[in-house]
Amino acid sequence: MTTPHSGPMPASVTPVQSRGRMSDSQARQLWDARTDSPMIEMRGLVKTYKNTAGEFHVLKGVDLTIERGEFVSIVGKSGSGKSTLLNMITGIDHPTDGQVVVGGMDIYHNINESQRSRWRGKNLGIVFQFFQLLPMLTLLENVMLPMDYADWHDFDERPKHALELLKMVGLEKFTNKLPILVSTGQQQSAAIARALACDPPLIVADEPTGNLDSRSTDAIINLFEELVRRGKTIVMVTHDPSLTSRTTRTIVISDGELIDEAISKSLPQLRHRHMLEFTKIAEERVYQPTATILSRDHSVDHFFIIKRGEVDVVLQEKTGKEFVISRLKAGEFFGEIELMCGGKSIASVRAGNASVVVLAIRRADFLRVMEASPITAEAIGKIVQKRLESQKITERRTVRP
Ligand code: ADP
Ligand code: MG
Repeated sequence: MTTPHSGPMPASVTPVQSRGRMSDSQARQLWDARTDSPMIEMRGLVKTYKNTAGEFHVLKGVDLTIERGEFVSIVGKSGSGKSTLLNMITGIDHPTDGQVVVGGMDIYHNINESQRSRWRGKNLGIVFQFFQLLPMLTLLENVMLPMDYADWHDFDERPKHALELLKMVGLEKFTNKLPILVSTGQQQSAAIARALACDPPLIVADEPTGNLDSRSTDAIINLFEELVRRGKTIVMVTHDPSLTSRTTRTIVISDGELIDEAISKSLPQLRHRHMLEFTKIAEERVYQPTATILSRDHSVDHFFIIKRGEVDVVLQEKTGKEFVISRLKAGEFFGEIELMCGGKSIASVRAGNASVVVLAIRRADFLRVMEASPITAEAIGKIVQKRLESQKITERRTVRP
C-alpha cells in the first residue's frame, strides 16, 4: 500500500433531498449540532440474550465515553463481549437496557429502525474481519455502493469520489479488479475505502486485521493512523495485543464488564479476571492539591494506582529539607515497596499541584493476587528494585554536607 495522499478528504457535493426521509443535511446536523459532545457515550449498557437454557448476560452495565479524535482499541478474550459492544455503537444490535449516544444523538430512543439505518449509512464507517466485499462487483463498484444506498454525491460524481478513496488506500491500479483478484490485505484496504465512502466521522472496526499477515496488518494500522490525523475517530476491536501500542487508548473488556483503565495500564501483565477483581474492589480516593497520601515511617496497608493527576515522592533530610525524588502520573502505582518488602513507608507521597484520584487496593487483596500472578509480581519486583536504587542514590546525595 502506498502512503495515503495528504490532501483533504474528498469533499461532499450538495446532497439530494428525498421526500419522507431524513435528508443528508438533517442526518449531518445530528452530528454538527453538538460538536462539543463526546463521540460516544454509553451509560448503564446491558445486553442479555434469552434462550431455552435461560438468560445470558453479555454486557453487564457498561459505562464508556470516547472523545472525538481518539483511536481506541478494545481487547478481551474471545466471548468477552467485544463484538456485542461494537454492535451497540453501530446500532446493528440493540441494548436490553441503557443508553448509547453517538455524536450527541441517542441512537435507541425516539428513532425507528429505518431512521437508524439511514443514520448509520451516512455517519458510520464499518470494517469487518472478513471484508464483506461483494464478490461480483469491482473494487470501484464496491466503494460506490454505500454512496448509492445513502444518496451520497450526485450519481455521475460517484465514480470520481470512489476513485479518490481507492487512491488514498493505494489501490488506484486495481479499481476495476474483482475482490478475489487482489490480496487479502488489499481487500481490507478496499473495505476501508468503502467504509469511508460517505466521509463518516466515526469508523468502527471488528478485528480488521484478524485475517491478515503482519505486513498487511501494518499497512492497515498505518492507514487508520492517517485517518485519525485527519480528524476521524476510530474504535477497533483487536485480538492482537501488539496493536494496542499503536492506538491512543486501550479498553479491556472481561466477561461483559470494562476494566478500569488505570488498572489495565499500570498492571498490564495481570490476568483479565484479576484486573476485573481489582476494578470491583478498589476504593477510589480523592486528594486535594499537595495533600499527603503516604507519610514516611507510617505503615502502609494499601497498594495505590493513580487514576488522575500526579503525585510527588518526597524524601526528607535530617535538616528538614525536602527532595522530590520522582513524580508519578496516571497509570503508575506506589505503596508496592512497603507491601512487598514489608514495613513502613520509606518516603512520603503527596498530591501534586492539582487534585489527585487514586485507587486503593487493600494489602491482603493485593498480596493474594500477586501470589496468583507471578508474572505481575516479577514485573513489580523489577520496578521496586529500580525505585530502591534511585532512592539510595538520592539519599546518599542528600546526606552530603
Ligand atoms: P467477542 O466478540 O468478544 O468474542 P461476542 O460479543 O461475539 O464476543 O459474544 C459475547 C458472548 O455473547 C458470547 O458468549 C456469545 O456466545 C454470546 N452471544 C453473542 N451473540 C449472541 C446471540 N445472538 N444469542 C445468544 N448469545 C450470543
Ligand atoms: Mg467478536
